[in-house]
Amino acid sequence: MRVFFLLVVLSSLSAGAEKAKNVILFLADGTGLATVNAASIHGYGKPQSLYVQRMPNIGLSETSSASNWVTDSAAGMTAIVTGQKTHNGVISQGPDAVRGVKDGEGLKTILEYAEERGLSTGVVSNSSMADATPAACYARANDRKKQGEIFLQIVKPRYGDGVDVVIGPGRKSILTQTEALNVDLASALKERGYAFHDDFASWDASDTQRVVTLFDSDDFDLGEAVNRAVTILSRNKKGFFLMVESNNHSKSPQKDLDRLVRFDEIIAGLAKNYRKNSLLLFTADHSYDLRLPSGKKGDPVAANMRFDGSHTGEEVLISAEGPGAKKIRGYMKNTDLFRVMLDAYGW
Ligand SMILES: [Zn+2]
Repeated sequence: MRVFFLLVVLSSLSAGAEKAKNVILFLADGTGLATVNAASIHGYGKPQSLYVQRMPNIGLSETSSASNWVTDSAAGMTAIVTGQKTHNGVISQGPDAVRGVKDGEGLKTILEYAEERGLSTGVVSNSSMADATPAACYARANDRKKQGEIFLQIVKPRYGDGVDVVIGPGRKSILTQTEALNVDLASALKERGYAFHDDFASWDASDTQRVVTLFDSDDFDLGEAVNRAVTILSRNKKGFFLMVESNNHSKSPQKDLDRLVRFDEIIAGLAKNYRKNSLLLFTADHSYDLRLPSGKKGDPVAANMRFDGSHTGEEVLISAEGPGAKKIRGYMKNTDLFRVMLDAYGW
């Protein structure tokens, strides 16, 4: 009998202390429920067939910024990674910032919390690595357009040794904009211990710790980028934080739906190995005016999509799995996701 009670007590303690070793944030940029629905039909011929639609914990996130009902990626991502709403165009600074004019209070990001505690960290995207979504993880700026200033914060980290793995496009413009600030990016990265490449072919066996890979275009395999990032980050016994972005709002519905289907496959692939010890969190920074106004079952869906190219303000999907995922339910705020991630780590 005593042994039985001891077991009950122990198992309830361990259930209460269920912590995530890693957090992987999958950010579908500009991806509303209509895009999620259409991508499922596009990829699988029927609704509700994406992995993110079958994850056990589902919620809806409102996405407004500090001053607008419709957010941009800068304020949207700032809310998710810092827990604070700010103005459109502002990167991880408080709403006392004036875009392009005045800095606001610096906001500490979930990536910086992870760095401070000695975890490994990474950002991977098919958008420029100096663009708003990845930038909000590792930098602060009063205007998302200051991409040189933003990217150089990688070599001047505030916590730990800074983001360890950076993989994505934007090479030419990042080099131009850092050069305009009189910085030789290649040597600045080398000094901070990064291997710096423009493709995967030039990676070698020594690229096992800190890597910056900047492509000239977004035409690379995001899945391979994620696998390479996870291989490096998972060597840290303390765990890791990884943000993966897929930009799913272009001028081409076909491309957007292809990308979301691919992104979903990447998430499903990682979940197999990581759902036990990692919080897997999928969401969007904002919705997009991509709609399916008509269409017969069995017909291709991308050609029927209607879009006007603007962000929209309604709630977006949150899906989650792994330790800490149970907190995702019902209507939530974009700022709540920061707390969900911190809680998952137990911080
Ligand atoms: Zn966005």
